[in-house]
Amino acid sequence: MQAIHIPGMDDVTEPRRTGTGAASGALRGRMLTSEPMAKHTSWRVGGPADRFYVATDVEDLAQLLRNLPAQEPLVWVGLGSNLLVRDGGIRGTVILLSGLLGEIELRDEREVIAGAGAPCARVARFGATHGLAGAEFLAGIPGTVGGALAMNAGAFGRETWNIVERVETIDRHGTKRHRKRSEFRVGYRTVVAPAEEWYLAAEFLLQADPSRQGPARIRRLLEERAERQPTGVFSCGSVFRNPEGDYAGRLIEKCGLKGERVGHASVSTKHANFIINEGGATAAEIEELILHVQDAVKAMTGVRLVPEVRIVGEAPRPRGENHVA
Ligand SMILES: Cc1cc2nc3c(=O)[nH]c(=O)nc-3n(C[C@H](O)[C@H](O)[C@H](O)COP(=O)(O)OP(=O)(O)OC[C@H]3O[C@@H](n4cnc5c(N)ncnc54)[C@H](O)[C@@H]3O)c2cc1C
Repeated sequence: MQAIHIPGMDDVTEPRRTGTGAASGALRGRMLTSEPMAKHTSWRVGGPADRFYVATDVEDLAQLLRNLPAQEPLVWVGLGSNLLVRDGGIRGTVILLSGLLGEIELRDEREVIAGAGAPCARVARFGATHGLAGAEFLAGIPGTVGGALAMNAGAFGRETWNIVERVETIDRHGTKRHRKRSEFRVGYRTVVAPAEEWYLAAEFLLQADPSRQGPARIRRLLEERAERQPTGVFSCGSVFRNPEGDYAGRLIEKCGLKGERVGHASVSTKHANFIINEGGATAAEIEELILHVQDAVKAMTGVRLVPEVRIVGEAPRPRGENHVA
């Protein structure tokens, strides 16, 4: 791992769990080094992040961004429920938002403001219990608001950006901005955002629901998901985007790939668009299975499936190849 100097913090070379105290621009969060990403992804795979920062609050996060070298690669992580981190880990700094910026509040009767670290399920429940409709679909998405904004996560025909009015972002200089929905190019599981800006919060505009059926609707949606999708296993949800007018799961099943495996990774027998870590799988095994499914579906149907999961990090160095500092 390459050591870097971050003002406000002792040189980050060894595993350490505290920031330094008094210097101006001092960081108050926890900087971990060589942090195993498997602890922070729902597939439970992923090698070490060189640096892994857990901020205390948004000002501390802004300070970190100001203090980091301009060329430092950054990877933002919410609940890691859509991330395949390779076994060689991440060169650069991971910023963890889960556990931070979790506030949710109601403004002007129909506007729900949620911090980027708030779990989607809590936003769904918050809307429903305040007599508002429109956010119920978020109930079964096991990520944060920041991850849902970055992915335009969706379910049951609804997408995150359908209900976004504005977002708050932060850039590399720690500068915060409020941006309107129209400043983003949004598509199916894609969002083109201003470069080098990350989400701090979202303003969702929901509909008044005098019938107050939200909690019942959420229960039904969750039941439906549990019937169709594997639960209680290590996965990243749907691995591939649905191709225009079809379903990735239907194509994978049609090609006879349910139950296909590489090592300890397998295609779910319940929902063919899910790949399961059965315990002890590596990121390389999962990635190999993704490529195998892609190739087999292309060969048999002519359709090239596009992964929905984000693949980040590096493959491990080949055995015997030593790192020379
Ligand atoms: C069982 C299961 C079911 C799922 N069902 C669905 C579903 O129905 N619909 C669906 O769309 N997805 C689904 N997913 C996938 C996943 O939950 C969503 O994509 C979710 O939005 C990811 O949120 P996260 O916080 O975990 O993001 P992460 O996985 O941590 O990150 C995903 C991407 O977002 C970026 N990111 C995270 N936070 C920020 C931020 N604050 N600012 C900028 N970028 C950021 C990351 O860098 C990364 O590129 C499912 C996953 C699982 C495991």
